[in-house]
Amino acid sequence: MIYSFKDCNFIDFKEFEGCSLCKGKGYIYEDIQGVPYAKKCKCLTIWQELKRTVRELHNSNAPKEFWNYHITKDYRPNPKITLKDIYTYLDKKELVFKEGMNLWFYGDSQTQKTSVAIFILKYFIYSRYTAYYISYENLVRHLEKIRFNKDGDSTLLSTCDLLVIDNVPANIPENSSSNLLAGFLINRIEHNKPNIYINMGSLSTFLCPTFLLIIFKKRIKEIHFEFSVNYNSKKISEFYNE
Ligand SMILES: [Zn+2]
Repeated sequence: MIYSFKDCNFIDFKEFEGCSLCKGKGYIYEDIQGVPYAKKCKCLTIWQELKRTVRELHNSNAPKEFWNYHITKDYRPNPKITLKDIYTYLDKKELVFKEGMNLWFYGDSQTQKTSVAIFILKYFIYSRYTAYYISYENLVRHLEKIRFNKDGDSTLLSTCDLLVIDNVPANIPENSSSNLLAGFLINRIEHNKPNIYINMGSLSTFLCPTFLLIIFKKRIKEIHFEFSVNYNSKKISEFYNE
């Protein structure tokens, strides 16, 4: 198979080429009892799904430099992160959405928090869910804009199946913005729409108003990202076969 989710170049997406099975046509022609019959080749179906993923990635606001990151190829494992948890999250999408399971990624910069979060976003889009990426700063700015000017549209932010909120500050003061954020997050929780929060510190070191902390702690799993000393790529394949 020429195209696959794993090997696809999402940034520089190629035109359809087809496989050896259909000889690049995308259809396999058969003769059934004298009647010519064209069957769509699997390679064309996959290519169309990948093309849709590229289109949706453009709409997702996810930074392009992360689009080609793949967890089995690019992830640098470390002793504490439980990759198994991430794969469980990916493999049990129905359950994730049914229960609105949130993730709290934390760790120093350059530990692949955003890369992994956008990989999950991309995988969910490929699996026909809607997903959106936004920085905390822009999210708050957007919520304030809707509140005061009423000309913003929060529909996608509110209704997308998965929302990745990057650069959540370690300290959120209690003010009108934190109230707006609380209302927004409660709405998503009530509709079982999961979020991935990206932060430098764990929830126990997170400083914010109590009501907001209670919301953040709802149905959440913390994943600690660290730099790896011993790189062993073989460990990854134990969890994930594609
Ligand atoms: Zn083919």
